[in-house]
Amino acid sequence: MRHIHQTALPQIGEGQERLSQANILIVGVGALGSTAAEILCRAGVGNITLCDFDIIEESNLQRQSLYTTVDIGRLKVEAAKEHLISIDPNCLVKTVEEPFSPDTSISEYDLVIDGTDSLDARLVLNDAALRHKKPLVIGTASGTAGMVYVVQGSPCWQCIVQGKTSTDGCESGVLGAITHAIASLQAAAAMRTLLTSPPQGLFELDVWEMQWRSIAVPQNPACDACKGRFRHETALRFCQGRSRLIARSPVPQVVDLEMIRKRNDVVKDYRTAVLVKLGEGTVLVHKHGAFEFTDVPEPAAKEFVKGILKM
Ligand SMILES: [Zn+2]
Repeated sequence: MRHIHQTALPQIGEGQERLSQANILIVGVGALGSTAAEILCRAGVGNITLCDFDIIEESNLQRQSLYTTVDIGRLKVEAAKEHLISIDPNCLVKTVEEPFSPDTSISEYDLVIDGTDSLDARLVLNDAALRHKKPLVIGTASGTAGMVYVVQGSPCWQCIVQGKTSTDGCESGVLGAITHAIASLQAAAAMRTLLTSPPQGLFELDVWEMQWRSIAVPQNPACDACKGRFRHETALRFCQGRSRLIARSPVPQVVDLEMIRKRNDVVKDYRTAVLVKLGEGTVLVHKHGAFEFTDVPEPAAKEFVKGILKM
């Protein structure tokens, strides 16, 4: 009875049973991943694994509607799991409390959803999807615009972004309406891919201008990933938002949080991260090698990270 309005659709029908057997991985449960997770859980996808190391901050609530004020400070995967199970107790939700890495196996999943917010992380996922021959539903959102693309073999995401730089994930501002729109499209594309075939082309959408288009994507002859040459170099990426600077190592490195606590003034302690004072500002250090600086000048931030990560 729960899915009666969905099984009435010719596109779903008896496919509902296959959705209940499906096993999907959602990498990143921020704005895109948490929303896609909620839609797919409500739609009856039976097995959902959530991979993320981040904790919920007050500034996430503007768009991450799976979470509420009482979740601030909790691990995203834990809060998301609890909310998803309360939505549908039949959904089997598993959690992985660490960042996705090139070593993470995706062979057991039918499909992967990209809920990451960085170009680097997305390319690591793209490599994994090609290597394991799994469909990957990419989503990006920045400002009032976003994109959706399903990778299933070639052309892949690297074919599209080769040589381009991205500002998403830099907290340069994003409207909750676009992250919801993109996550909805990702959820629909995921269901369609599980039941029939992936939608073709790269879809671009701007919710403010109400403009959208779908572009055919040719294979890029210069694309290494399509030739099976998986690389993703691990330069530390810094990106500057309004008052925040974020640094992360694309490949997870374990940070000794005990050492951070001993050497610095602790403002707030979380299980997998610690917020400490740095000059006039603060830095939130995640145990998997991500740093979020507030009111810290870039040279001081770089100096801090270099003292901790192996570069
Ligand atoms: Zn490619």
